[in-house]
Amino acid sequence: MHATVMFGAGDVHIETVPDARLVRPTDALVVVTRAAICGSDLWPYKTMEYSETGRRMGHEAIGVVEAVGGDVRSVRVGNLVVMPFAYSDGTCVFCREGLHTSCIHGGFFGTVDIPGAQAEAVRVPQADGTLFVLPVGADDALMPSLLTLSDVMGTGHHAAVVAKVGSGKVVAVVGDGAVGLCGVIAARRLGAEQIIILGRHPDRIALAREFGATDVVSERGDEAVERVRELTGGLGVHAVLECVGLEQSMRTALGIARPGGAVGRVGVPQDETLPASQPAFYNNVTVGGGPAPCRAYIEELLPDVLEGLIEPGRVFDRVVRLDEVPDGYRAMNEREAIKVLIEF
Ligand SMILES: [Zn+2]
Repeated sequence: MHATVMFGAGDVHIETVPDARLVRPTDALVVVTRAAICGSDLWPYKTMEYSETGRRMGHEAIGVVEAVGGDVRSVRVGNLVVMPFAYSDGTCVFCREGLHTSCIHGGFFGTVDIPGAQAEAVRVPQADGTLFVLPVGADDALMPSLLTLSDVMGTGHHAAVVAKVGSGKVVAVVGDGAVGLCGVIAARRLGAEQIIILGRHPDRIALAREFGATDVVSERGDEAVERVRELTGGLGVHAVLECVGLEQSMRTALGIARPGGAVGRVGVPQDETLPASQPAFYNNVTVGGGPAPCRAYIEELLPDVLEGLIEPGRVFDRVVRLDEVPDGYRAMNEREAIKVLIEF
């Protein structure tokens, strides 16, 4: 079969690889019908050291179950399924607490252990706990929005939940990538009164406004902090969704949180230390977040997608075939595209 392999920074190819197959009795084999390139795929695209074997990329997909192992009970051959970016058994202590990304028997797609989903087929471990059967046909017009339940919509929602967004809250979203834009959707959905997006790309800002952003701050650093304070009567915001992961974005997030506020961070941190620890301490700011348990959120978000109440699929502004995926990486890396959908 054909699959996306990254060999080093900027070095992505479609290669012929051994067919995906069942390995364990809890596995399912899924033929991919839609996949996506993620903003987090751009970190290795910028920095990965050359590897002769490469890394099989991709962790967001919808597909049709082609085969299941002997222990799989809730997923059947022929089901149309969405897979979250992490696999999980759905039964361990952390899964029962809704934190599927810490599953004791879990892990992540697109890693050394589990080859990625930017491929014609993918092996899905812990199929019963991982896969969610979709109640629509494979050509449904909602497919782009359903695909965001794999990652970006669930991740934006997670940031909002951790930041304690609720009715009447003043919210800021740091970052105007696909996750930040989904964070705007999530904040509005959870009842935020004012939603300030921090970003500077006109196409993304325009989409953020359509999703419910009420204010835009395009400054950076101290100027951004000052501008948010102006917009909030000098107080800062109740809830910050940090959707970038850089030192500067985290510093900004902590700088705009009001005393007693909360920061939900979902941008993969590129530093080992947390900046602005002292202001966060003196302001009693809660800092939380991490890999979103997207599997836990599908039940909650799916009805709104099916009813058209939210349209996170609009973050996809380019569609490619599998053989065009390398150019999809380039386009996202050069900010020519917000997010790339792969159709098979
Ligand atoms: Zn688990």
